[in-house]
Amino acid sequence: DAGTSPWPAQVTVDLDAIAHNVGVLRGHAGSAGVMAVVKADAYGHGLVPSARAALAGGAAALGVAQPAEALALRQAGVAAPLLCWLLTPSVDADALLAADVQVAASAPWALDLLAAAARRAGRTAQVQLKADTGLARGGAFALPVRPGDPRTDFHALVRHAASLSAEGALRVVGVFSHFAYADAPEHPTVRAQQEAFADAVRLAERAGLDLEVRHLSNSAATLTTPAAAWDMVRPGLAVYGLSPVPELASAADLGLRPAMGVSARVAVVKRIPAGQGVSYGHTYAPERATTVVDVPIGYADGVPRHASGTGPVQVAGRRFRVSGRVCMDQFVVDVGDVAVATGDEVVLLGDADEAPTAQEWADAAGTISYEIVSRFGPRLPRRYV
Ligand code: PLP
Repeated sequence: DAGTSPWPAQVTVDLDAIAHNVGVLRGHAGSAGVMAVVKADAYGHGLVPSARAALAGGAAALGVAQPAEALALRQAGVAAPLLCWLLTPSVDADALLAADVQVAASAPWALDLLAAAARRAGRTAQVQLKADTGLARGGAFALPVRPGDPRTDFHALVRHAASLSAEGALRVVGVFSHFAYADAPEHPTVRAQQEAFADAVRLAERAGLDLEVRHLSNSAATLTTPAAAWDMVRPGLAVYGLSPVPELASAADLGLRPAMGVSARVAVVKRIPAGQGVSYGHTYAPERATTVVDVPIGYADGVPRHASGTGPVQVAGRRFRVSGRVCMDQFVVDVGDVAVATGDEVVLLGDADEAPTAQEWADAAGTISYEIVSRFGPRLPRRYV
């Protein structure tokens, strides 16, 4: 029980909410499967328990960025299809192959690395080709760099993959890409990227690659652009119950249940006189004598320092804001004349009606809810409910 927790502050993760949210996403995905994205410690929610909850909710596959994340899932006994998409040349391709992880290739060197590991093991490596259809981040660029020139990096990647797959070292399981503007479904790049993706898929299929999965949609596209679903959608944020399109629809509007709660226990309660500056730099000074409480969670735990003076909290059932600067391990809240005792609960994120949300923290800190949840760090114990 949170009330008897020995920890000054903790994260609570509602695994049923994760399973529920995957169900909501499946409802939007039509016949496409859901690949639940569990990178970055499942956006701060805890890699293995969150992955299991997503699978229990009907996810067909899991997606991670880093190889170590894929291997950690396998070490924990998670056997679902698993794609890992952020490779560097020092990657341990043998370990990924042995763990039956599908690996994304953005460039021919990645294919060579995987093929070499496959030859050593006498096996076939499963790869997915990552097409850059306009994000200009990872993936082989799939758009012509010079007008009229049909050759692209993606074209070269497909040709290389086709020859290694003819040799038996590789099997190309899929082609995928990622949107730049999925949270603005009317933006012209959304349609342009869909068209470029269709071209990339056609190119791969014409090269003789027998694709099982073609996928493009993150959370925002899954919820707003059903025509982009292809065979699989690849949501992250919405799996954790947060809206990827907060200007268009809240989590509640979308039927999503936020999975993360964050709370702390009041460490110190004290009266201060009018005019007493609070916390570093005295950026806050109450105009009248008041009660302040010290909350033992700070920027080292992921509370954004940019939310100094603005971050929303709930104490004794009432809403307040962080008073003054967020410190490394703590922050202060002016609770006025509300009766608060040492050990009382301070809610930073919660699921009660009046509790602050990750979106409010994001607005307070000038960032996005992704950054809020994924930065609540390892010093905070995770309690799964
Ligand atoms: N696919 C890729 C390649 C990603 O990098 C991410 C996360 O940024 C996702 C899918 C999931 O995106 P979102 O959390 O917006 O659903």
